[in-house]
Amino acid sequence: MKYVDEFRNPALAARLARRLAAEADPARAYRFMEFCGGHTHALARHGVLDLLPPNVTMVHGPGCPVCVLPVGRIDMAIGLAQRPGVTLCTYGDVLRVPATDGLSLLRAKARGADVRMVTSPADALRLARSLPDREVVFLAIGFETTTPPTALAVRQAAAEGLANFSVICCHVLTPAAVGHILDAAAADPAGGPRLDGLVGPAHVSIVIGSAPYECFARTWGRPVVISGFEPLDLMQSISMLVRQVNEGRAEVENQFTRAVTPQGNVAAQALMAEVFETREAFEWRGLGTLPASALRLREAYAGFDAERRFDLVYRPVPEPRQCECPAILRGVRRPTDCKLFGSVCTPESPVGSCMVSSEGACAAHYTYGRFRDLPVVAA
Ligand code: SF4
Repeated sequence: MKYVDEFRNPALAARLARRLAAEADPARAYRFMEFCGGHTHALARHGVLDLLPPNVTMVHGPGCPVCVLPVGRIDMAIGLAQRPGVTLCTYGDVLRVPATDGLSLLRAKARGADVRMVTSPADALRLARSLPDREVVFLAIGFETTTPPTALAVRQAAAEGLANFSVICCHVLTPAAVGHILDAAAADPAGGPRLDGLVGPAHVSIVIGSAPYECFARTWGRPVVISGFEPLDLMQSISMLVRQVNEGRAEVENQFTRAVTPQGNVAAQALMAEVFETREAFEWRGLGTLPASALRLREAYAGFDAERRFDLVYRPVPEPRQCECPAILRGVRRPTDCKLFGSVCTPESPVGSCMVSSEGACAAHYTYGRFRDLPVVAA
């Protein structure tokens, strides 16, 4: 296969759907979590959910980088952006996430704060070079996929002696979140998500490799299949999970062999390790405060750490009332379970981050109209 169309071939999809229907044991119910928000969107966008047998249910996971950023972190960035002399830049989706007092970074900009959208940390670096009289701060978010470019920008800033550039580091770690979800499921079978296996993320796995998932198969006895983003990738991955469950296996399998290796991108890992270290703890939206689940800049790069440079203090704040984002991110609710879905909360007027982000579960269900016939899943 060379072209993306080949991964969207309807005849092959129909054949895979028939195979899946034959493999899925009608006497059992299969529940698989797709960790990554990109997979959530691909499942909805391409109608893959409609091709699954009725006893195969996909549960959304916490793998949307904008969604897992707690409101307090956005508040912190807004507070800094409102200081004189500061230019705050970040990715487009983050600008629209609702924060405290009806604010967002975009609304703070409308009130006079210098907030800019960038598409990469390299854009933020360019901005810092072009605005030598301003403090340019990059609000860095995301999983291991977006961490190496931030590390590269920090290292480049250090090499250039770019003293007006710094980073609010909100990069988070995938294995910690997966472990938390599986712990929750094991500790509270009634309240946690019941999961028979995981669809492992694609982009993150290109960086970290497939090896870090071994412990999920070993410790929690859950199969993991790392999947590509195209509909045929997902159909095949779900089929591989069904087969593992049927055969009583719990192994890490790699469907996305065209991009993911067991060891991952070693150069990117070395770059991350040079610039970042693990925080003791970090609050995630929906998952709470998890130990060793996020990164901060190492002492050698402390001058580029905006939290230290500007004495920023993180303050947790409550979620918007009636917003089910936290439960959706834990895999115990679906977007359609939220009373505000599609009425009060829409992509044009989001209440929670899951409706903002291009990887958010609520945005996926709203945008692709798959919400009409999805069953409500009880916690
Ligand atoms: S529909 Fe809106 S309010 Fe409801 S869970 Fe999703 S983002 Fe939150």
